[in-house]
Amino acid sequence: PHADPLLATEALGVRYGSFVALKDVTLRVRANSVHAIIGPNGAGKTTLFHALTGRVRAATGRITLAGRDITRVPDDDRVRLGLARSFQVTSLFATLSVRENLRLAAQGRTPWQALAPWRGVTGGTTALATAEEMLERLDLTRVALRPAGEMSHGQQRRLEVGMAMAARPRVILLDEPTSGMGTDDIGTMTALIRDLGRDHTVLFIEHNMGIVMNISDTVTVMRAGEVLVEGEPSAVRDDPEVRRAYLGNM
Ligand code: ATP
Repeated sequence: PHADPLLATEALGVRYGSFVALKDVTLRVRANSVHAIIGPNGAGKTTLFHALTGRVRAATGRITLAGRDITRVPDDDRVRLGLARSFQVTSLFATLSVRENLRLAAQGRTPWQALAPWRGVTGGTTALATAEEMLERLDLTRVALRPAGEMSHGQQRRLEVGMAMAARPRVILLDEPTSGMGTDDIGTMTALIRDLGRDHTVLFIEHNMGIVMNISDTVTVMRAGEVLVEGEPSAVRDDPEVRRAYLGNM
């Protein structure tokens, strides 16, 4: 028997004026899973993220988080309910140390992460412990005292994910977490996402099929605003429709 999904959409539709960007999108994201959204350019992946976070309005359908209907909930409140989206390095405090950035994030004192009320307020000691745990998992313990702004691009992107995680969201949305990275940074980032998926719920947009097949529990393939198929990586890879959509590039 399948548990209820933590994050779900039912027949979600989004329009930009008269253009239908999403149509009848049904998505089911299980708790503690790594879930990839793939699809060609213009498939509607980013629009789906915008709809989930409340940046664009759903024209039709429903969005639920932990069983609660959030379709009409404003974006800020969705963050408070535990839906986090990791943005690019702009939200780091460049002059503060890596550890201090993580500690502030664990306290919910970052611009985009409110307190996590369903877990209670995270106190000083807990925030420090969370920061230490994240440093380890991010493989950033060695650079804990360095200013965040002095780290490499790959390290900053990892810290960014870690900061979103430190506030203990229910679900984190990652928009192409490996884009623009070299091989080593891609390897470290994918290992991090796979590790986080053991006790967090990660939904991510990714173009690199090798990464998707390697680290995802579930893959949703989109095309032209609709879901083509959702399933385990191997089933998705072998799906004839998906193979046609990707012209065998998998
Ligand atoms: P990519 O992989 O290129 O980022 P995507 O799958 O994320 O693509 P979206 O960015 O969601 O796709 O775009 C879906 C469709 O909606 C595209 O045809 C795009 O041109 C259109 N679109 C996106 N934003 C707007 C907007 N603000 N107004 C009108 N059309 C838009």
